[in-house]
Amino acid sequence: MDLYLGIDFGTSGARGVVIDNKASIQAEVRYPFEDSPVAVMPNSWREALFALVEQIPQELRREIKAIAINGTSSTVLLVDAAGNPIDAPLLYNDPRGSSVLNDLKSVAPPNHTVLSATSSLSKLIWMKQLPSFNQARYFLHQADWLGFLLHGYLGISDYHNALKLGYDVEELKYPEWMEKLQIPIQLPRVLPPGTPVAELRSEVADNFGFRRDCLVCTGTTDSIAAFLASGAKLPGEAVTSLGSTLVLKLLSRTRVEDARYGIYSHRLGKLWLTGGASNTGGAVLQKFFTNAELVSLSREIDASKASELDYYPLLKAGDRFPINDPNLPPRLEPRPDNPVEFLHGLLESIARIETKGYELLQQMGADKLTRVYTAGGGAANDTWTAIRQQYLKVPVIASKYTEAAYGTALLAMGKVCRDTGMRECDECGECEECG
Ligand code: ADP
Repeated sequence: MDLYLGIDFGTSGARGVVIDNKASIQAEVRYPFEDSPVAVMPNSWREALFALVEQIPQELRREIKAIAINGTSSTVLLVDAAGNPIDAPLLYNDPRGSSVLNDLKSVAPPNHTVLSATSSLSKLIWMKQLPSFNQARYFLHQADWLGFLLHGYLGISDYHNALKLGYDVEELKYPEWMEKLQIPIQLPRVLPPGTPVAELRSEVADNFGFRRDCLVCTGTTDSIAAFLASGAKLPGEAVTSLGSTLVLKLLSRTRVEDARYGIYSHRLGKLWLTGGASNTGGAVLQKFFTNAELVSLSREIDASKASELDYYPLLKAGDRFPINDPNLPPRLEPRPDNPVEFLHGLLESIARIETKGYELLQQMGADKLTRVYTAGGGAANDTWTAIRQQYLKVPVIASKYTEAAYGTALLAMGKVCRDTGMRECDECGECEECG
């Protein structure tokens, strides 16, 4: 039996999913991170990686043909020539790069994806003033370093992780303007996500009972892995994540970028994964209701009747997508006494914001929306699904798989067609566009 392992490094822990060649799950393993100071986090990641692998039953480990890892987007570190971290990593949400943004603005094209305090490139420029910087040989993303622990090659990344480092994913090279930054360090060589890099290091294969010819592939980021897991594969298909915030991703033939709205596109083979994120979402629902109340009150809502209430649910002022206004006030009034009516208004208002988000992506040139898969805590709410379907006017379905590790296992399997970027059909094993 040929098996494939996907490993997801999220913010709270690591997960692994083993699939067979029909993409069915054979094993799932988890390893929660303990609180540790950022400086020693790479040690915790290494521990998590090998502890996770050890949880996979020995008889399955022997059958694994390929492995891929996804990391948190823009979590980065500097390592020496032997791959040892030379300083604390900078985590995905670390804003220290804001101090170099003005310098970066004078070099990067206007509204470029790297022009954000948390982009990998801002972090790298910020790191240049570290006393330890002269010991650094390579700048890596979390997924690149974890891949190195398995295959032993430094300085290799994928074009999903490298987007926020400034890599030109259309031309498949670092852009000329980056030369002006005179970065005195090796930038990663960038390959398509899911490309086999090398066989497992022999000591890892022997210690953990893997086959010596098990391949380690380039990885991806956590949110793209979750998209790959969803089952969306054709242009026009989208995934909405109804978690604490509202995140939209729409597969398109056209690349769409607008930094004002925080809209950018990842490359997925010949297609583009366009998207944006709003601050509205489940965190606002949680402020007013427990999860049990969300279930019971939603059942009492008559989804066929429109609510009169028009809110813009936010925890604090400001949104970027689909309305770009840092001062946009939360709108949660008038609040009816009946909690069912209040929740109805909230769910419907978030559905309107979701619809507006997809309209904006389409206005900017993305493919026409045809189907919306749903992930996140709100995906289980059937009343909300019915309301959203009325606004979106396309079928709304729950994603069959939502685990990023599952999407990364598909990547290891080569199930994401590298020509078209589409997931291959589970039944025939072929990509719909390739035939
Ligand atoms: P994240 O990973 O972004 O924190 P999750 O995907 O775990 O979020 O989803 C959690 C969110 O889902 C919470 O903010 C909660 O309000 C929302 N949620 C949970 N259950 C329901 C429900 N039945 N209906 C609507 N929203 C829900």
